[in-house]
Order: sequence, then structure tokens, then C-alpha cells
Amino acid sequence: MSSHLTPGQRALLETTLRLRHEELERLLREQQGGLSRVEHAHALLTADSDDVKHREAARELDLGRAERARAELSEVGAALLRLQEGRYGRCEDCEGDIAYDRLKIEPWARLCIECGSERERRRR
Ligand SMILES: [Zn+2]
Repeated sequence: MSSHLTPGQRALLETTLRLRHEELERLLREQQGGLSRVEHAHALLTADSDDVKHREAARELDLGRAERARAELSEVGAALLRLQEGRYGRCEDCEGDIAYDRLKIEPWARLCIECGSERERRRR
């Protein structure tokens, strides 16, 4: 199946996606290697209250980051699958080409610029 992307552009985007995939997996592994529940409870009991507030905030921040990383990881994984299946770079809504300039910024984009902003509008 032909693509509007040159082999060089495809290769570059694929590399970007693979690196991002590795980076996100490492990030999530590190997060899981952090404080366990028991350790967390222990830290709460032994720390003074200011410290606890600080730790709580940091933990929530970490959980939010992990959630975002997981969501991004699945987007990146889906994009890599589309590359393998020759569906990469095609808009899911109108089946038009997704511009290379857009893919350079967001290699896991599923929609072309027009359909992307259309969805944004409908969401509001
Ligand atoms: Zn489209």
C-alpha cells in the first residue's frame, strides 16, 4: 500500500515512536519500583505533618503522571501497529493523509488536522 510519506520520513517517525515507547516503559517501571503501599503507610506514620502533606502531593503528582504515561504508551503502541500494518498516517475519520508536519510533532496522531479540530469542537 502506498503512503504519502517518503521512506525516510517513515523511518524517522518510526524511530521517534520506538524511542518514546522505551522511554515511557522505563518511566512506568521506575514508578512501580517506588514506594509500596506498606512503605507509604509507614512513611505517613513516622513523618511529621508538613512532610506528610508534601509527600501526599508528590505521590498524587506521580500517580497523575503514571496515568498520562500509560495513556500515551497505548497511543504510541497503536501507532507502531499501524506502521506495521501499512495504515499509518491515514486519518481515521476521513481516510485522508495526515500531513508530515503534524506527524513530526505528534507521531501517534490518528486524525488529520481538519478532523482533529472538528472533534475538539464537538467535545466542547
Ligand atoms: Zn481527516
